[in-house]
Amino acid sequence: VSFLATHDVIRRSAALGANLVITHEPTFYNHFDDTQRLAKDPVYEAKRALAHEHRVVIYRAHDGWHRYPGDPIRLALAESLGWQKYADPEEPEVRVIPETTLAELVAHVKKVLGAPAMRVIGDPALKVRRVAVVPGARNGEDQIAAFERLRVEVLLCGEVREWETTEYVRDAVAQGRPRALVVTGHAVSEELGMKAMAEWLKQRLPGIPVTHVPAGDPFRLG
Ligand SMILES: [Zn+2]
Repeated sequence: VSFLATHDVIRRSAALGANLVITHEPTFYNHFDDTQRLAKDPVYEAKRALAHEHRVVIYRAHDGWHRYPGDPIRLALAESLGWQKYADPEEPEVRVIPETTLAELVAHVKKVLGAPAMRVIGDPALKVRRVAVVPGARNGEDQIAAFERLRVEVLLCGEVREWETTEYVRDAVAQGRPRALVVTGHAVSEELGMKAMAEWLKQRLPGIPVTHVPAGDPFRLG
């Protein structure tokens, strides 16, 4: 079970003797795993061949897990940050944390996620309390609307379209509004939720070995 059936995750899973890889995001680089455009692409061919060689089946489990009560992907991220107890009963995406600064919040997120860096917009000294915890990628319209709809100072997300959400927050900050954006990276934001799925499956499938194989952050500091 992994955030993504990367080439490396398939290889590591096969080495564990696993023949089913459950992935959160697509294996072949687009929403519907449409491989038509990839025919004869060497990267695609090599990945497919690797799965075939090891007789590994890849199954994508995305929407079902997000729609499971509470959205375990969000829950796992909020829990790891120690924020589950601050859940806003009215707004499932929001955590109302004890007042802190944006800089302190970012330091905490980095430490918990073991990430060397986050991409951040906003005044480091900004006092923050209401945080929208929205792992993964959403469209810009939803992310932008979340600030007013949820009355949050911070949007904590996995991924943004840089010319949409990013620019909205840049303008909001320029206007002196209490707004901030913290982008963890998509894989980093959702891997804990897939670790939770592995635990969930273990309880329901006694006798079947289930292992969380983290895909890891594809980026490094350049
Ligand atoms: Zn997701």
